[in-house]
Amino acid sequence: MATIVDCPTCGAKVEWTEKNKFRPFCSERCKQIDLGAWAEEKYAIPAVNLPQEQEDDSSSMQ
Ligand SMILES: [Zn+2]
Repeated sequence: MATIVDCPTCGAKVEWTEKNKFRPFCSERCKQIDLGAWAEEKYAIPAVNLPQEQEDDSSSMQ
């Protein structure tokens, strides 16, 4: 009755069990790769959307 998921990094079949502490990743390496990619993406996106949305919202209320 084990749930099988795909490793987000390499696509390998991963058994979703308590024993697999790297789930949903197949290994620690795949987990680190995915975390690294996420951090890079976070740094790459400048925070310009939120101020623009707030400005637009307040101007439409006046
Ligand atoms: Zn993997």
